[in-house]
Amino acid sequence: MVATYSELLKQECGARLGTDADEFIRFIVEGAGRMERLLDDLLLYARAGNLEGAARINRIDAGLALDAALLNLHTSIERSGATVTRGELPSVAMHESHLIQVLQNLIGNAMKYKGPEKPIIHVSSRREGDLWRFAVSDNGIGIAPDFHKQIFGVFKRLHGAEYPGTGIGLAICAKTIERYGGRIWVESAPGKGSTFFFEVP
Ligand code: ADP
Repeated sequence: MVATYSELLKQECGARLGTDADEFIRFIVEGAGRMERLLDDLLLYARAGNLEGAARINRIDAGLALDAALLNLHTSIERSGATVTRGELPSVAMHESHLIQVLQNLIGNAMKYKGPEKPIIHVSSRREGDLWRFAVSDNGIGIAPDFHKQIFGVFKRLHGAEYPGTGIGLAICAKTIERYGGRIWVESAPGKGSTFFFEVP
């Protein structure tokens, strides 16, 4: 409503409002857009890893979840020229939509926080006792050790407007993985790329 009526105001009354009004209305429209994205992401966060119907969790093929995540990301993959490769992926006891969301957020970030080279992203997994440990690695800008924990918090961001985002993507991943009794962490250094790990049953 805010965005739509601001646009209408500009079209219908722009001439009467004077030259500054164009800029002010642009700020309102952009602000409304950011508010909408923030609300969408907060809603995703509130619902993240919801285990309703958990009694019926079946094993799902992580390779198919990755296919779905890549399909959802295909526009950014094409735009960034990213190469995404994979090792062998297991079946895991998760809701498919949850694994898709986690992989999509991690791969999306790997492309967004790219370095000077085109993104090269590898998704792999290995057995750790009763758990599967997934790894999503990239050749991006990397993250200084001081921030390795705090980036998983809600609204925690290391960047301003040069990289768009709401600071909720990793918090959604952490909440989802923790609902399954797993954990998520990052190994990274500035300029050396990042590898995000998560473990699930
Ligand atoms: P957003 O991307 O919306 O800011 P996220 O919760 O997904 O929010 O990420 C939090 C912060 O962690 C980002 O602002 C960024 O600074 C850092 N980050 C996340 N993924 C990567 C990555 N693959 N490489 C470098 N930095 C990253």
